[in-house]
Amino acid sequence: MLEVRDARRREVWQPGDAWLGGGTYLFSEPQPHIRRLVDLSRTGWEPLQVTPEGDLEIAATCTIAQLSRFPRPAHWTAAPLFEQCCRAFLASWKIWNMATVGGNLCNGLPAGPMISLTAALDGVCLLRSQTGALRRLPVADFVVGAGVKALEPGDLLRSITLPARALVSRTAFRQASLYGLGRSGALVIGTLDPVDGTLTITVTASTVRPIRLHFPVPPNAEAVREAVEYGIEPHEYYDDIHGLPAWRRHMTFRFAEEVRRELFEEAGR
Ligand SMILES: Cc1cc2nc3c(=O)[nH]c(=O)nc-3n(C[C@H](O)[C@H](O)[C@H](O)COP(=O)(O)OP(=O)(O)OC[C@H]3O[C@@H](n4cnc5c(N)ncnc54)[C@H](O)[C@@H]3O)c2cc1C
Repeated sequence: MLEVRDARRREVWQPGDAWLGGGTYLFSEPQPHIRRLVDLSRTGWEPLQVTPEGDLEIAATCTIAQLSRFPRPAHWTAAPLFEQCCRAFLASWKIWNMATVGGNLCNGLPAGPMISLTAALDGVCLLRSQTGALRRLPVADFVVGAGVKALEPGDLLRSITLPARALVSRTAFRQASLYGLGRSGALVIGTLDPVDGTLTITVTASTVRPIRLHFPVPPNAEAVREAVEYGIEPHEYYDDIHGLPAWRRHMTFRFAEEVRRELFEEAGR
């Protein structure tokens, strides 16, 4: 029999304990290794806050619906990316309203659209261990493989911070699924730094972990092709029912070039 405990009651972490976010993954398949769920839903954490420095702090418990509804200031040129990533979910009503940003990151699926969003916008995770120690880790280093995260037993993802500078970057988004409303098979985001104009291409869904390719000078098509070729190892393309590695690789090359063209050539740079 599964027990559910309130996360506000600080109890000793035991083998078989798991944090409960929205439960959309945890309740979707049998979890024979779990004995107790520690429910985060009553923590009362503010879902979204803009800090005095202009960073956006997203609580782990923020739902996809709350993120989608959040009024984004007009000067956030990266604003469209929020909705594009929310919509990249294979989202039923239940997923939209219950799934949390933190649960999406901690699931660590290649097709995790909140991983795509926060990795592309230089997101940093705030993690709390059972001793109370806090540490920060870039999202791109937090997800290290398909379903593999930099989490020790009992570690809690508290929030993800998106820096002000990333929120005013120009972005380009491409996503493909094998079938309409299907889980993402490839999701590529380009971001143009507002200060130094450098391009970063973030590859998710087609790869087992987020892969970020940085271009200190504006690249041509060949430079982007080479970066994808040498920046992503063949074994890093994901293989599951939502897409063969060869197709994911093909879409990654294509989207990376489309993103480059949108941000440079079509913008008249
Ligand atoms: C029909 C359907 C479609 C789906 N489509 C997608 C999809 O397209 N892409 C995708 O990525 N996923 C998908 N999922 C899986 C899942 O719904 C999402 O990953 C969702 O974002 C998980 O969030 P949650 O809050 O419900 O997490 P939960 O189910 O509550 O938890 C997920 C995992 O994260 C851990 N966890 C949760 N919060 C924290 C925290 N703050 N700190 C530490 N650990 C934590 C839990 O212990 C658990 O291991 C789908 C699921 C279903 C049923």
